Amino acid sequence: MSQNDNQFLSVSEVQKRIISDIKAIDGIEQVDLRQALNRILAKDVTATFDSPPFDNSGMDGYAFSSKELNDIAGQSSLTLRIAGQSFAGHPYFGKIASGEAIRIMTGAQVPEGVDTVVIQEHTETPDENTVKITTIPKAFANVRKAGDDLTTGQTFLARGKKLSPTDLAFLATQGIAEVKATRKLRVAFFSTGDELRSIGETLGEGDIYDSNRYSLYGLLKNLDIELIDMGVIPDDRSAIEEAFKTAANVADAVITSGAVSVGEADFVKETLEKLGQINFWKIAMKPGKPLAFGSIGDSLFFGLPGNPVSVIATFYQFVQPALKRMKGQDIVLPLMIKAKTTELLKKRPGRTDFQRGILEQSDNGKLMVRNAGAQASHVLTSMSRANCFMVIPAEIGSIEAGEMVDVQPFEGLIG
Ligand code: AMP
Ligand code: MG
Repeated sequence: MSQNDNQFLSVSEVQKRIISDIKAIDGIEQVDLRQALNRILAKDVTATFDSPPFDNSGMDGYAFSSKELNDIAGQSSLTLRIAGQSFAGHPYFGKIASGEAIRIMTGAQVPEGVDTVVIQEHTETPDENTVKITTIPKAFANVRKAGDDLTTGQTFLARGKKLSPTDLAFLATQGIAEVKATRKLRVAFFSTGDELRSIGETLGEGDIYDSNRYSLYGLLKNLDIELIDMGVIPDDRSAIEEAFKTAANVADAVITSGAVSVGEADFVKETLEKLGQINFWKIAMKPGKPLAFGSIGDSLFFGLPGNPVSVIATFYQFVQPALKRMKGQDIVLPLMIKAKTTELLKKRPGRTDFQRGILEQSDNGKLMVRNAGAQASHVLTSMSRANCFMVIPAEIGSIEAGEMVDVQPFEGLIG
């Protein structure tokens, strides 16, 4: 796991090392259906009855037996007697004889003895007891069979799935009021730097406001994580040591920004080596070269670089997959798609670039991407304007306008 001083690790190598080290946390909670939104399912969920639970009509119309269609070759219409009606929630309990149909509505139970529904628009009703079918449907048309969505005993949601609004509905169809979800992760984070002031404080000469705590707040919040914001810690050996200890005691993971680059890294490195097992990696990526990863006690530790864009880029590539894995989530790596760049993307070979881009769909449906602005790692303007990273592999240089480029849409990164 150690790294030679001059050696750079690739983004995928670091992702591999981090993810393979991580196990899902212990702790399962019984969660109310509504509270389960965006939580990670800890146990498979199985259907206890067929869904739909009974054959029902897919349309408003008239239900009859497909046997009525047997001897009507050459006929352009079929006339049946209306024996009754089945409305949603109000089934028809009577018998249906040959030559009879019933009025039926969408979602209403299809009773014994009938199996085919003709839509209302294909009928006429010369009187209230008679229906004339003017366009003859195929046998079994417009009937939704019991169990055609779920059958009893079928696992319909697997552990590791992040529960979507659809999944809440899916669970509701089975009358399930609670599910088992992995417990929420607790993550502590702080910023390091003597130059950093918190909002509300006055900026002195050479000071800047701490912004990383706010990007981290948002990034973690989107992952449905319990946050412990520990503020700004000065570049001071004992203050940093104290902060690491406190954070590791209360959190499943600790995230810091700043103080991992050469120069500063030394005393942070010493402190961390005393408290836990930490790797300091130089990653062949831009932005975001330095990264510390390891553990302090039972807590995972991520030391992100200080530059505001580097924090976000390294979070998406390394921290988010790791946290998802800790939560027990099945899919962890960001989605990558291809888009055509409409302009030259400048780059030097050597590191994987995560350039900030704007991904759009052209009028003919093609995905097009362009530069979101100045690409330096302190520039939030382009990061804010961007909706994706344009990922340009380490070994290649600039990409010409019109060529295809790998793109990670932020929505997919967040999901
Ligand atoms: P460092 O990694 O600590 O050397 O920081 C690299 C750059 O990021 C410096 O310009 C810092 O001032 C800046 N920086 C570090 N932490 C933060 C923060 N929390 N908010 C804004 N900028 C920061
Ligand atoms: Mg610093």
